[in-house]
Amino acid sequence: MLGHRARKRFGQNFLADAHYVERIVEAVAPRPGDNLVEIGPGLGALTHRLIERATRITAIEIDRDLAARLRATYGPGKLVLHEADALAFDYATLGDELRVVGNLPYNISSPLLFHLAGFDRKLRDIHVMLQREVVMRMAAAPGSPEYGRLSVMLQAKFAVTRLFIIPPGAFQPVPKVDSALVRLVPLGATRPAIADERLFAQVVAAAFGQRRKTLRNALAALCDAEAMRAVGVDPGARGETLSVDDFVRLANALNSR
Ligand code: SAM
Repeated sequence: MLGHRARKRFGQNFLADAHYVERIVEAVAPRPGDNLVEIGPGLGALTHRLIERATRITAIEIDRDLAARLRATYGPGKLVLHEADALAFDYATLGDELRVVGNLPYNISSPLLFHLAGFDRKLRDIHVMLQREVVMRMAAAPGSPEYGRLSVMLQAKFAVTRLFIIPPGAFQPVPKVDSALVRLVPLGATRPAIADERLFAQVVAAAFGQRRKTLRNALAALCDAEAMRAVGVDPGARGETLSVDDFVRLANALNSR
């Protein structure tokens, strides 16, 4: 690809289909003045069109060679490039109303989403391309086989919308799986009030730790059956049947005890 050897360890599959680049950019609908942040710009397939539409963007790229190429292509007036690990990056330093965009390295997609979720109050929206299967899990409803920790942790903070599928042939090198574009918009005023985020994350992780276990067993270390019944949660149920609100009520009740 343009003289660059794709690095597997950085999850490099570059978008190489102008049709999908346009569809993604249309879905993001960037406007001049938007605080756009691209994660993993790579060879710049999306970057180029995003700069054209928004006039300038910030990007975070871990690959030194790609970072150098991008810097040589765009001046700092158009592209502010951070050669850094997106997983450890402090997004709060980039201001407010962030619009995050990226064709994410699939090997780090879940931890990156959890990291970004920690900055939800700084975000306007997120548009990311991921493995289709991960997008299904992000948007899944209670009771469905894909519903799990990722669904609950993200839906507690964001409205999650699946947008469209992108086939393997749109990338170079060609990946083995379908990808999909997903939009996350912070819930803002309608966001459920979580008293202690760490406790909430602990309860959710434990509930889905062993999927076949009832909540009575899965959450034994955190609460007793009585505490579950008190907030209307059946201790004999399994984690995958609980709504996001059920998890919030349960974690908040534990917090106040
Ligand atoms: N956006 C480009 C495109 O669509 O063609 C590249 C997408 S490629 C799937 C993922 C990009 O993320 C690569 O450029 C890779 O070097 C970069 N990357 C991988 N791990 C990263 C990390 N931890 N932090 C920042 N960038 C990373």
